[in-house]
Amino acid sequence: MKRLKAPRFVRISHKASYEVVKFKSDSLDGEIIKDPSGFRQIRLNENLTAKQEEVTLLHEALHGISFEYDVGLTEKQVLKLEKALLFFLKNNKEWIYD
Ligand SMILES: [Zn+2]
Repeated sequence: MKRLKAPRFVRISHKASYEVVKFKSDSLDGEIIKDPSGFRQIRLNENLTAKQEEVTLLHEALHGISFEYDVGLTEKQVLKLEKALLFFLKNNKEWIYD
C-alpha cells in the first residue's frame, strides 16, 4: 500500500479547512486547534513514522468532523472510527471518487 503523504490542508466542511503542520511534542502524537476566530489547524508530531502520521491525521480529522458537524464524538468513539474508516478507505478505493 502506497502511503498517503500528509496534505498541507484538509477540508472538513464548506466553512472549515484545517492547515496540517508538524510540531514537537514528547507526549502527543497529534492535536487539533479550533480557535473561536476561525483558525483551524491539525498538528502532527514530527517524529511519527509514515504509518503513524497517516493514522494520526485521520484521527485528528475525525475530531474536526465531530466539531464542525456538531456530532460530539468521545475519544473512545474517535479511536473506533479511526480504525473503521482507515479500513474502509483502503478497501473501497474503486468507489472513492473526486
Ligand atoms: Zn483523539
